[in-house]
Amino acid sequence: MDKINLNKYVEKFPKPSTNDPSRTKFSHDVDDIWKVVSENLRLSLGHRDFAAWVEGMYLETVGNGVAVFSCPEQFKKDRIEKNHIRLFEKCLLDATGEKLHILIKVHSPIEKKEKSVQYEYHDPTAGSPLDLFSESEKQERAKEKSLESSQLNPKYRFSNFIVGSHNRLAEAVGRAVVEKLGLAYNPVFYYGDTGVGKTHLMQAVGNEVIENDPSKKVVYVSIERFLNELIESIRTNKQGAFRNKYREVDLLIIDDVQFVENFPKTQEELFHTFNTLHQANKQIILASDRPPQELKNVTDRLRSRFQGGMVADLQSPDYETRMAILKQLAEEKGIAVPEEYLELISKNIDNNVRELEGALTKVISLISLGESLTEEEVAKMLQIDIESKRKRMTPSKVITTVSDVFGITIGELKGKRRTSYIALSRQVAMYILRSELDLPLEKVAREVNRKDHTTVLHACRKVEHLQATDPRFKEKLHKCLKTLSE
Ligand code: ADP
Ligand code: MG
Repeated sequence: MDKINLNKYVEKFPKPSTNDPSRTKFSHDVDDIWKVVSENLRLSLGHRDFAAWVEGMYLETVGNGVAVFSCPEQFKKDRIEKNHIRLFEKCLLDATGEKLHILIKVHSPIEKKEKSVQYEYHDPTAGSPLDLFSESEKQERAKEKSLESSQLNPKYRFSNFIVGSHNRLAEAVGRAVVEKLGLAYNPVFYYGDTGVGKTHLMQAVGNEVIENDPSKKVVYVSIERFLNELIESIRTNKQGAFRNKYREVDLLIIDDVQFVENFPKTQEELFHTFNTLHQANKQIILASDRPPQELKNVTDRLRSRFQGGMVADLQSPDYETRMAILKQLAEEKGIAVPEEYLELISKNIDNNVRELEGALTKVISLISLGESLTEEEVAKMLQIDIESKRKRMTPSKVITTVSDVFGITIGELKGKRRTSYIALSRQVAMYILRSELDLPLEKVAREVNRKDHTTVLHACRKVEHLQATDPRFKEKLHKCLKTLSE
């Protein structure tokens, strides 16, 4: 299996060795990109915001579709992720010509020290000459045993996890964890809406770890079960057993962490368990339907623990990825499904892989009964209202909506006048055409009767800046987006 490695860029941009712990020196390429990007950030954000949020950061690496930044403080990272991520993306796009996923790491000196501690594993089952089983039989048996005690579902693998722009970073992080268990990113906190593949990905990591080394102890558990066991152990005074069970693992995978909200009283104990594992460089992977900062009823200490490693999101898959997933699923089930049906499903079910699977299963069940269906019939069965979906966001709807919300005419929006209010409305339209419809720059320019695509870039930067700094503007922009999504 070919491995995706976050560090692949190293080949492209060899890192000169240096002992300076505060700032590793990278090749000129990355430095050059950073120069351009930071200059543009300074221009867009203004001197004050730049100094407040960006200063002290640097670009570590670029490669494999990912730009990794290093940031000196968590709150800066949070702020940037919350308000300026699009601006970062745009500036990187301008500088590299590539749409890069952004990853911001926080480098505290303590973390560096922790990371440098090596965890040594001693295999207690190491061979004796008296063993009755051959080496490969032993491996197989060990694998089975590990799998069984891990509670992993063996069907979730990297090999059947389709990667697209919506989950590329998350998958790369998962692969890095397999390669450097406990030492690459710890903890890993995945978040994303339901059905986007969090459980699949985390279990793929677990399965791969056991596949590579059956002596590794992996445990997959939901947070509810984990905390219930914890509470039970406190109640029955058997905390020792609980600790042994969970602190002896090499990889602990905790799913659906959002339910920690229902257990406000056990957080202290959870925090300690967490710390013990973390300090021993035992890998922890968590998944939740929202990022740590949006979890309610969580103490700051626990929250910052969640945030202390790598937080990576999984988004809804784009059209091409939805098609790829459907094709793979149909193949797994051994049924040839007409392309039109797959397209119909991919076009209309756009936020959730689980629903995608459900729709395909319905279609497959009819096909295997020998039914031949028209597209309309398939749509009806899947309760897809083709008409209403067709009415969704189009360039002309964007322009009408923005004109409406800003109270100007379409003629004015597409016209020559440059009064600041009209220009701003036009910029909002450009921004939405670019960011929501993903139109190429030239096409965006054409939609508002402009020739030059740099106008569009400028518009996007400005809208992003205002969105971050002007609440009234932000409200208007959101009104446009909300109207458009109805
Ligand atoms: P979540 O845990 O985020 O709610 P799951 O991991 O349970 O989502 O995914 C829902 C279903 O979709 C699962 O059957 C999973 O195998 C499938 N799935 C999700 N993402 C992918 C993907 N990228 N490639 C293949 N199958 C996927
Ligand atoms: Mg899940």
